[in-house]
Amino acid sequence: MEDKLKKTKIIFVVGGPGSGKGTQCEKIVQKYGYTHLSTGDLLRAEVSSGSDRGKTLSAIMEKGQLVPLDTVLEMLREAMIAKLDTSKGFLIDGYPREVKQGEEFEQKIGAPTLLLYVDAGAETMTKRLLKRGETSGRVDDNEETIKKRLETYYQATEPVITHYKDRGIVRKINAEGSPDDVFKEICTHLDQLK
Ligand code: ADP
Ligand code: MG
Repeated sequence: MEDKLKKTKIIFVVGGPGSGKGTQCEKIVQKYGYTHLSTGDLLRAEVSSGSDRGKTLSAIMEKGQLVPLDTVLEMLREAMIAKLDTSKGFLIDGYPREVKQGEEFEQKIGAPTLLLYVDAGAETMTKRLLKRGETSGRVDDNEETIKKRLETYYQATEPVITHYKDRGIVRKINAEGSPDDVFKEICTHLDQLK
């Protein structure tokens, strides 16, 4: 089990809130058949369950802050193990959110094969999130929380990209264009993985 986890293909999908990670992961799943795991979705599922842990998590997410590392990593690991036998590889969406999360992931799970850096400007991300907020029902898709999420992103998450650059696994994707244009660029990188 542990061995298999170490050998599997792992793709980190890193980018700011609203950069289009979820949108692109959906397309990647369709074309390449990888298993998509969004830490945000996993956390929101825990919140919906109404558990005590979920209530604590919801309060943190509403403030645009990062939830405790151990909680996210444990959820991710459990989800990966559950899908390991049938998976062609994992798309890890929204993780690592800080360098420490990446280090812990590598210790407990394995090393990333590739990091897709989904890059959109703050203005674009804000616009997309406000639009998404009209229908998403997410507690963090409002103007005030978006500001804080962007701060958290620039302060904690951007250093993740620098951290992995030296390994030569970072692929920067211009995410300002249409979903299809962004996806085309992603494909040029994923096609080289096979
Ligand atoms: P993330 O998972 O990175 O937070 P999402 O994929 O949920 O971002 O995208 C946020 C919002 O922006 C969604 O409402 C989505 O429809 C929209 N969106 C995503 N990518 C693009 C794009 N390339 N162009 C325009 N809108 C986009
Ligand atoms: Mg998302």
